[in-house]
Amino acid sequence: MPDTFDLTVIGTGPGGYVCAIRAAQLGMKVAVVEKRATHGGTCLNVGCIPSKALLHASELLAEAGHGFARMGITIPAPKVDLAQMMTFKQEAIDGNTKGIDFLLKKNKVTVFRGTGRILSAGKVEVKPEDGKTEIVETRKIVIATGSDVAPLKGVTIDEKDVVSSTGALELKKVPGHLVVVGAGVIGLELGSVWARLGAKVTVIEFLDRILPGMDSEVAKQFQRLLQRQAFTFMLSSKVTGIDKAKKGLKISVEPAKGGETRTVAADKVLVAIGRVPFISGLGCAEAGIECNDKGRIEVHANFETSVAGIYAIGDVIRGPMLAHKAEDEGVAVAELIAGEAGHVNYDVIPGVVYTSPEIAAVGKTEDELKAAGIAYNVGKFPFLANGRAKANQTTDGFVKVLADQRTDKVLGVHIMGAQAGELIHEAAVLMEFGGSAEDLARTCHAHPTLSEAVKEAAMAVAGRAIHA
Ligand SMILES: Cc1cc2nc3c(=O)[nH]c(=O)nc-3n(C[C@H](O)[C@H](O)[C@H](O)COP(=O)(O)OP(=O)(O)OC[C@H]3O[C@@H](n4cnc5c(N)ncnc54)[C@H](O)[C@@H]3O)c2cc1C
Repeated sequence: MPDTFDLTVIGTGPGGYVCAIRAAQLGMKVAVVEKRATHGGTCLNVGCIPSKALLHASELLAEAGHGFARMGITIPAPKVDLAQMMTFKQEAIDGNTKGIDFLLKKNKVTVFRGTGRILSAGKVEVKPEDGKTEIVETRKIVIATGSDVAPLKGVTIDEKDVVSSTGALELKKVPGHLVVVGAGVIGLELGSVWARLGAKVTVIEFLDRILPGMDSEVAKQFQRLLQRQAFTFMLSSKVTGIDKAKKGLKISVEPAKGGETRTVAADKVLVAIGRVPFISGLGCAEAGIECNDKGRIEVHANFETSVAGIYAIGDVIRGPMLAHKAEDEGVAVAELIAGEAGHVNYDVIPGVVYTSPEIAAVGKTEDELKAAGIAYNVGKFPFLANGRAKANQTTDGFVKVLADQRTDKVLGVHIMGAQAGELIHEAAVLMEFGGSAEDLARTCHAHPTLSEAVKEAAMAVAGRAIHA
């Protein structure tokens, strides 16, 4: 008689492994099923971690190339050893994925290697690449199978010349001209990496703006800063095909509304138009698990699918496709299954673009507040007026605080500037506690810090910023 697990989690990305660990902490007998050789999913293997390693290395290269002399540090012009930079990236991946192995072992989680398929509530088939298929008996199942690259109609991704984010993380040579299709987070982050390493970067975007979904004022100003970093943008344009030429690639581009086709030559193309939920081979339809028209698994507020005892979290369900959102859902679903009060506050999920400068946001954008007819006050503060930013010469960008006009409750915070991805969390904590702009404005902030710009933006909501 095989072991019966309390919980089996399919997929060990940030959603799945966190769920498994939390469930084990709560006393459940837990199994995970993973088809990849290493744990950590998209995030650790081909997403957040490798992209941030390359962003970090290339940002330091740019700093050494342009910023050091200004500070009185004279060094020879830095050179790129791309193979070593890729080794640095791989070390970041290995360090993190091994850490997950350790944590799963420490929490006594049983690992099944292979592709999981749900046979019914309580039964998961695991098919290893080679070896015997096993059936895992389990009381509950959590699906955490994540997402995959969204395909572009009429274009074949060969991961050599036409690459997805996965291929763009392992190019063997800096391309002369990289065309990025899609001006979302992933396209702009990976475009930044290769631009800093020396590529000419052209971004082709269907919409008339970059970073769809983020605050449009931030996006507009950020586009100008990227143009200063030698990015070229073709907005309101659609790629209709990519042909291999004798040398390089020929990209057919049309106005988004239709019209005359023009051709753009490139050495490599990165297709970064988004991601789609991954449920292939999981047996959802056969098991009666309902998906919406975008292929995302439908879940109730407690993450249970249309089949009792089967739950889903992370990129495969509704909401932003972000690692920390998947992690928080992993914790919440484990707690709910254990009879505790698991909860995710979808109004306070920060989003960060790890470019230079960084962009970070939490809560509503001005565009969303306008569309919802919510009266709000705005407080803005430029880094140009912040002492630490001036000392560091990182004065690009600003902080914007949006507060309810009636109650002063903070509804959204948007930051463009150095370390925005770290600064945003004081806003997230404040919002989690339902804090007001005045609460933030009256909290003493250390001087000189970039965080003072957040405080001053909160003061500006009531028209009383001191330094601007
Ligand atoms: C280039 C890039 C950069 C990114 N940067 C960031 C960032 O900076 N910050 C951020 O928050 N997010 C980032 N993301 C998004 C982030 O990676 C995802 O939101 C996150 O990984 C989703 O977690 P998940 O657990 O839902 O799924 P995933 O991480 O996709 O993990 C799913 C796992 O399930 C496994 N699996 C799938 N089907 C089966 C099956 N049938 N049987 C067994 N195993 C299966 C897969 O092999 C995979 O390991 C980035 C993504 C990309 C591509």
